[in-house]
Amino acid sequence: MKVIMLGAPGAGKGTQAKRIADKWGIPHISTGDIFRANIKSGTSLGMEAKGYMDQGLLVPDELTVKMLLDRVSQEDCKEGYVLDGFPRTIPQAEVLNKALTELEDSIDYAVNVDVPDKNIVSRMAGRRACLSCGATYHVEYAPSKEEGICDRCEQPLILRDDDKPETVTKRLMVYHEQTLPLIDYYTKKGVLRTVDGTQDMEKVFESIVAILEG
Ligand code: ADP
Ligand code: ADP
Ligand code: ZN
Repeated sequence: MKVIMLGAPGAGKGTQAKRIADKWGIPHISTGDIFRANIKSGTSLGMEAKGYMDQGLLVPDELTVKMLLDRVSQEDCKEGYVLDGFPRTIPQAEVLNKALTELEDSIDYAVNVDVPDKNIVSRMAGRRACLSCGATYHVEYAPSKEEGICDRCEQPLILRDDDKPETVTKRLMVYHEQTLPLIDYYTKKGVLRTVDGTQDMEKVFESIVAILEG
């Protein structure tokens, strides 16, 4: 099972990708998480990526693609994976397609989690992230048991710098310009499925399960 999550920043891709990964026992691969882990440990890749991320821009394809191809070639990806935040540009999608085609393989589904822009800013402002384990919360819709503390690893939760409203607006523009064309790309490949991401998290997951099992 190879699944791609598409959708605006804050649409709920990560939330749903984690559930898919748990249910199907496949890795959840988030390029954003990999970049943040690199920033935290101070690698040169992390330092380079940070400049773009803080501005709400995409990290250049040259840096992103190699990192992703390395990750999906690892042993634990043999039975499949769920990609969250990759591809984000047509060139990224083409590189992934080429790599899979060489293995006589392909993506099973591209799940588009559809949420209108007007809902996005409040989703992002309320998001709280654990940089230690990658867990995500929402102050209103998915609060941690103890405010500001991760349920899973007890580390402090943060509001990501790029989740502040100024940067979110920029990220939405970038999404419309560079990522939205992927909807067409995967529609043409016959693998696009759209779910209503404004429903509550449980309902969104039920819709996705129905697609992936169908
Ligand atoms: P969100 O889940 O809110 O959409 P992510 O954690 O996926 O955010 O990504 C955070 C930032 O990391 C992006 O704004 C971008 O700068 C960078 N990034 C993540 N994935 C990619 C990618 N595939 N291509 C380019 N940049 C990326
Ligand atoms: P993405 O990975 O697409 O950027 P996330 O999964 O991190 O999005 O979700 C963004 C924020 O919205 C998080 O704080 C998350 O807890 C919350 N969230 C996710 N799905 C829903 C939903 N269906 N309804 C309300 N809030 C949600
Ligand atoms: Zn944690």
